[in-house]
Amino acid sequence: MPPTLCLRCQANRAVVKRPKNHDKLCRECFLAVFEDEVHHTITSSKLFFPGERVAIGASGGKDSTVLASVLKTLNERHGYGLDLVLLSVDEGIKGYRDDSLETVKRNAMQYDMSLKIVGYDQLYGWTMDQVVETIGKKGNCTYCGVFRRQALDRGAKMLEIQHVVTGHNADDVAETVLMNLLRGDLSRLARSTSIMTGDSASDVKRSKPLKYAYEKEIVLYAHHKKLDYFSTECIYSPEAFRGTARSLIKNLEKVRPSAILDIVRSGEDMARLTPGKGQGACGCDEGEGIGGCGSANGRTSGNEMEQMEAQLKAHTASQHLETHITESPQSLQADIVKLPVRTRRAKQSTITPTQTLGRCTNCGYMSSQSICQACNLLETLNKNRAEADIVV
Ligand SMILES: [Zn+2]
Ligand SMILES: [Zn+2]
Repeated sequence: MPPTLCLRCQANRAVVKRPKNHDKLCRECFLAVFEDEVHHTITSSKLFFPGERVAIGASGGKDSTVLASVLKTLNERHGYGLDLVLLSVDEGIKGYRDDSLETVKRNAMQYDMSLKIVGYDQLYGWTMDQVVETIGKKGNCTYCGVFRRQALDRGAKMLEIQHVVTGHNADDVAETVLMNLLRGDLSRLARSTSIMTGDSASDVKRSKPLKYAYEKEIVLYAHHKKLDYFSTECIYSPEAFRGTARSLIKNLEKVRPSAILDIVRSGEDMARLTPGKGQGACGCDEGEGIGGCGSANGRTSGNEMEQMEAQLKAHTASQHLETHITESPQSLQADIVKLPVRTRRAKQSTITPTQTLGRCTNCGYMSSQSICQACNLLETLNKNRAEADIVV
């Protein structure tokens, strides 16, 4: 049987069956299509302005590694004019985050980007290991989510950067849509679908350029681009509800590949019908905070993603036997397209005038409440620690 030819170029042998639509593509065409789709997401939603400084929330996992690689490629190819830096949060989880941060350090060198690491211990006086030691594993993701969100904000502020991009993919967004639908929380559902989120508690914007990219395609992209990433999942298991929503989505994807994007689109449609859409999220914004954590990166039902990664690794060994494919000239051509300009002034309109940017009376961090959420959680933790000390 002759090898299947790439649907797009009709010249090279197809090596990828796209999880999104089952198109059979050669390596070059798959990489090009993936990058073009992210470029389309960026330009159609006017995500950046020329000259903007952007911090990439980097965990060392596949999502943020692919995000950094693709943004670097697109920034150079299309002349976005972005100043990209890596921003990592060290939650203080031994055997997990310390190892993944080593990956980020290598990425910083590979992509020639500067790297800033902010640690929970310096910011809050607690590492996640200590938090789990105190409160147990149950509910620890809530603490981690709130702390991470603020840590990324604070890191961005230290760098004087007002835009943080995260590696949330279509699966993450679909999962959050489903969770909020099941909880009947339409306003949070609406916020979770927008590509760019402002926040009443911060003047740092967040966006998700990989919002329409399938998790499986991100793994394939990382594999075919030979990216250096960390694939171990967080040692502290995520909440059961999120895990269940995730399994549900993976099962739906099996019988209907478009299900993930369908859920994302449905979420967007529902958001349009929801009053107050796009208004600043509350500080916790659980859906987002947790979705961005490292545990979400490798977490899938039935270890499906690990199996896929193992298969890809085995496949690499036989890759030299395949048709040699030269770099497609189109993909190298720098067609400099000016970004649709989103002015600095436009940015300000994302802050709802009815909400006031106050400061936490405790830590001085921007907050819509008198005590910020992180401080509230820290108070509980510190009380627990004090009680434990009395017992001892
Ligand atoms: Zn092709
Ligand atoms: Zn505070």
